[in-house]
Parts: sequence; C-alpha cells; structure tokens
Amino acid sequence: MTDAQKLDFLISPEKYFPTEVSRGKLLGNVQFIESTVKYCDLLAESQYWERKKIETIQVERLRKLTGSIALSSEFWSKTFIEHGFPVETAALTDLCKLPVLDRTTIHKLGDALYVNPLLADGDTYQRTSSGTTGIPLKLIYNEREMIIGFIALIFRHPVFEKINLAELLKRKPFVNLGMPGFWHICKDDFFERTFQSISVLDLEKPEVRREIYKSIERAKPAILVGYASLIARLAYWVSKDNISLPLIAIRITSEPITLEEQGLIFKHLNAPIVNMLSGNGTGFVGFECSGNLGKFHLNSESMILETVDEHGSILKNGEEGELVISAFMFTLTPIIRYAHNDMGKIISEQCVCGRTLPLFEFHGRRGYEIVLPDGKKLRMMHLYGVLWQNGLGKKSKQIQIIQNSKNSLQIIIVPRKPFSEYEEGGIYKSLAALFKENNMNFEIKYADSISPGKGRKPCLFIHFPNINSDIGKVELDFCLAPGFFTLLTKTLYRCILATD
Ligand SMILES: [Zn+2]
Repeated sequence: MTDAQKLDFLISPEKYFPTEVSRGKLLGNVQFIESTVKYCDLLAESQYWERKKIETIQVERLRKLTGSIALSSEFWSKTFIEHGFPVETAALTDLCKLPVLDRTTIHKLGDALYVNPLLADGDTYQRTSSGTTGIPLKLIYNEREMIIGFIALIFRHPVFEKINLAELLKRKPFVNLGMPGFWHICKDDFFERTFQSISVLDLEKPEVRREIYKSIERAKPAILVGYASLIARLAYWVSKDNISLPLIAIRITSEPITLEEQGLIFKHLNAPIVNMLSGNGTGFVGFECSGNLGKFHLNSESMILETVDEHGSILKNGEEGELVISAFMFTLTPIIRYAHNDMGKIISEQCVCGRTLPLFEFHGRRGYEIVLPDGKKLRMMHLYGVLWQNGLGKKSKQIQIIQNSKNSLQIIIVPRKPFSEYEEGGIYKSLAALFKENNMNFEIKYADSISPGKGRKPCLFIHFPNINSDIGKVELDFCLAPGFFTLLTKTLYRCILATD
C-alpha cells in the first residue's frame, strides 16, 4: 500500500470492507477477515506516525461525519449553523464551537439527535445502554459501521500484534465473565461462552469453575474477558485447583487494575493483560500502555478526546475533568462532544513506548462521591478504605451503602459470620473519625442478600439527590484473595465504570 492509500484506508475504512458485513456471518468470512487484518496492521503502523499525519485523518473524518449528518439531519444541520461550525472546511479547533452533550441534554433532545437511516445504510441495530449513569441511552447503529468501527479496535492492542489474527477470526476464542460491551457485536461469531451474571461468590462453587475451565478448553487458545475483580478471583481459584488454562490474553473490561492484581492474574493465569477503556456509544476509546501502566493511548485515528470542567469549558492537558469524546465511526447516533461522566485527564508527555497516540488517564465516574453537610465531597474510595480496615472484607459477602439524606448514611451488610458488638463499635468509631466535623448519622443493618435491583447491573450507591430512582445502588462483592484491598477497590470501580 502507498502512503496515500494507507491514509485513505484510515479515513474511510468502510471503503475497504466487503459490502455485506453482518453479525452472525463474520466467523471464517474470508473477505471480512482480510479487511480486518489489513486494518489492524495499519493501526499497528499508525500508532507511531507523527501527530500531523494523524491530525490529517482526524480533520478528514470530522468533515466527512459532520458533512454527512448535516445533509440527513435537521437537528445537526441547524446545530452546525447556529454555532458557526464550518462543516466543509472544519479544523479540529472548530470542534469546541459545538456544545458538549451530556446525558441529560441527550435525553432532552430525544429522537432529534438521531439521524434517520437511508436505504443505503442497510440493516440497523438498536439497543439501549444499561443506564449506570442514571439515564439510559438509546443507540442506533448502521450494522456494517458498527462492526467495522468496533472489531478492529478490539484487536489493536499490542498483545494481538503477535497473534495470527486471520486464524483467530476463524474460531470462537472469547470466554466472558460478565457481559462485555462488545457482546452485541461479537456474540454470534466469536464468543464461545458468556457467564452473564456471574459474581465472585459464584466462583466459590466448584461446578461453576469447572464450567468455566471447560469453556476455556473448548476455546483454546482462549481470550478470557471480564471485570478485574472476577478475573483476579478466578486466578486465585485456578491456583487452588492447581490447573493451568490455555489462554493467549486476558481482557479487563473498562476498569482500572492495580499492579497487585496484574501480578496475581499473570502468576496464575500466565497470559498478558489487555486493559482497554470503552464507553457507551463511543466504541473503544483507548488501551493501557504496557510500558506505561495506568496511562492509556487514545485511538486517535477514530476519535478525538477533550477534557472539560463542569461548565463545559475545555481544560488544559494535565487538568482533571470530564472526558469528552467525538467518535467518527458512527453516523446514525452521532457521538460529537459527548460527555459520559468519566473523569480523567489528558497527558502531554511523549510515551516511553514510542507510540505517538496521545496519552490519558481515567479516574472513575463523576457523581460517586458522598456530599457532606458542609458541601464538601468525600470520594467513596475513602469510605471503603475505612470499612476494609475494620475487617468487612473478611467478614461480609456484600455491602450496600445508601446516603438517605445530607447527614445520614446507611450501611447494609450481608455477613459471612456475625459481627460482635465490639467489631460493630469499631466501625461506628472509624466512620465518626472519617466524617469528623460533619455531623453524620450512621446506621449499620444486616441482611441475608442484596438484590442488584430491577434487572440493572449493580451500580454504586444511592445518594440522596437520586433517592427516588433505583439507580445509584452500591453493591460490592467481597473477596478474600491475596491483594484483597485492591480487589475491593476494583470491585468498586467495576460498579463505577461498568460500561455498555
Ligand atoms: Zn505507551
């Protein structure tokens, strides 16, 4: 391929894929596989390209997307005119003229936001995101765009560069603990088995583990996908069961993972870890750099990342704010300056690995703080730290935290063994110390179980502005594996960051 062809491929990948691309017909599909392999090979190259070249791709894709939706959507056409966004000649700096769309705004806009599919769009696919942030988001995709936009980015992680992707796409390599975001796209073609609503407690049952081991054997060499907490717990059991699993990679879905967890997983599962961030509707935002842990490289050939403050003003690199994504791959649900509550920051530094793709960090989801009577906020993490110090990890199966009002907090515990009065007193004392100047009331209650709530994934906690909704529940599964504290905090993150 010439340089010009490579650029053209990355600007318009859809031109290089077969016309007929649909779910359920991807496994072993020679033409589709050829295009995907080519796309991934190019992405492996472009991650080292100079910024200017990537920016050329971004500008072209921005103009292409906005040009297309300006023609087919009254809402978008009006929005561009109203905000002085020059569709045909747009530069990257023009993007900030457009409003940041948060979920509340998106909800208010309703159907106006979506672009009506044309006949040429072929099959469309609609789903509603889980609503862990409070407002479920309707997503409509052109099925072909969805497949092209998602699948190559799953395999752009450095771990897969060494794998024969053409061979991999001829079989079903994925075994999932929990339901990953790309379930909708890959389940029929590439998933051997999905243990949909599995929890760390289920892993204590030998028959459940046997089923998982069997699936991995069938999918071998397999890619195990799941929340860090579940996979770390499985790693613990794999060592107890004294077996080895035929894995080529372990993909952690959308939650931070600590060094201790990585060590535990690597030691007992003996496979590299693929840690990526994805968001509802945005596709795969980035992947963690294996040479720079904790930092993510942005998939900048396919999207632009900004950070904004609470008023929607752009922040400088290095300042923490809300991550705002503009994704170029999807035309029916345009993702333009979309804020989906993830907090983080963009980092200016050049990565030690040599990749030129921008670096960013993400820190969790906005709103998961306890608002104190004096108006200050306390991150949930600190509260969990205190609970852990009091042994709740060992002594309880699950907990739930509810902030009933500005100054009252309820902690529901599903105990493994009864708490003594002395232990309970210790928890109250530590909580009082944590909230010192703020006059908070605490109540500890015991329960036999905690329901995840109306078919939703377990979310974090109920804080009082949302008290009438069923959304902000905390449910934590405790584990006793080594590195327990990190498992605890990661379980917390699992709840915070659970994506589509
Ligand atoms: Zn790097």
